[in-house]
Amino acid sequence: MSRAYNFSPGPAALPEDVLRRAQADMLEYVGPGQAAAGASIVELSHRGPEFLDVAQRAEVDLRALIGIPDAYAVLFLAGGATTQQALIALNFAAMGQPADYVLTGHWGHTAIKQARPYVDVRIAASSEAEGFKAIPDRADWRLSADAAYVHITANETIHGVEFRDTPETGDVPLFADFSSSIASEPLDVGRYGLIYAGAQKNLGPVGITVVIVRRDLLERSGQPRAGIFDYRAHLAADSMLNTPPSWNWYLLGLTVKWMRDEGGVEVFAERSRAKARLLYDTIDGSDGFYRNDVDVAARSRMNIPFFLHDARLDAEFLAGAREAGLIGLKGHRVLGGMRASIYNAMPVAGVEALTAYMRDFQQHRS
Ligand code: PMP
Repeated sequence: MSRAYNFSPGPAALPEDVLRRAQADMLEYVGPGQAAAGASIVELSHRGPEFLDVAQRAEVDLRALIGIPDAYAVLFLAGGATTQQALIALNFAAMGQPADYVLTGHWGHTAIKQARPYVDVRIAASSEAEGFKAIPDRADWRLSADAAYVHITANETIHGVEFRDTPETGDVPLFADFSSSIASEPLDVGRYGLIYAGAQKNLGPVGITVVIVRRDLLERSGQPRAGIFDYRAHLAADSMLNTPPSWNWYLLGLTVKWMRDEGGVEVFAERSRAKARLLYDTIDGSDGFYRNDVDVAARSRMNIPFFLHDARLDAEFLAGAREAGLIGLKGHRVLGGMRASIYNAMPVAGVEALTAYMRDFQQHRS
């Protein structure tokens, strides 16, 4: 077996240690300090002692990893990040109330689309006219004092644009989509009203989404909604209002534990900076053979889109990469070109292999 370096944007590479643990648990689960369960974790009731322990450990480890204060609840939900983009409006805004959106890429558009049936979406700032290559200056944002929340996309997975700082939004709570950068660097949760993240990039497998929400905000009445769309109901049921995605939750727990064992977010922040620097230096030092158009101050450390100087070389580049054991590099259809997603499970050696391949390809095609 030879596992490739996988640069896929999500579902994305998982740590090999996690996959091996899951493989061992697949036939028969033995939890820490527990007797053998006699069945796979995926076959056990979510109400049984084995899974309740898995769920509880996942939350304890996630709280410790990210540094989530007690004033914040953590929910583990199905439905992906896209579902949260609708639920935040339903749960926290009165019908038709303004909500401010800062638009910095494709996923900001998705967030707006999902919220629009429920709130008066106001675009407080946008970098769309310039092709989503920068974060609009905070001084130029036009925020509404009566907004239910301000929404940002902390890291735009397709456009490769990232907030470097947490913007100040006064009394209006800041809501952020951290799907593609959570746990990649220290995060001051206390500056946010709500953070959501689909797990399939930095936290584990697809099929489960984490919502971190300031508890006092849950007292807002929001809009009429069924219990299954109500964060309070999910919290009251410990995220088990209905059958939770237990296998995904279990894998998330293993991944989060792995990140803690590796040394936590500070260690991953350092690795991320090193990996990103290596890749951007290779692109910038290629005399225009490769190109990344994002404003240097807003370049993502997680998702790095790049273009070959001649798009006719794309197919050959990708085929050669595959042969070199580098997969998942094809850019999103919105932008074309290439994209390397280098989340926490991507070792520095993977980026070294990619940049060596890029230099070699350039040498032979220049
Ligand atoms: N937000 C961001 C930043 C994303 O990268 C993605 C998926 N790539 C989404 C939202 C949508 O997530 P999901 O497919 O889990 O709904």
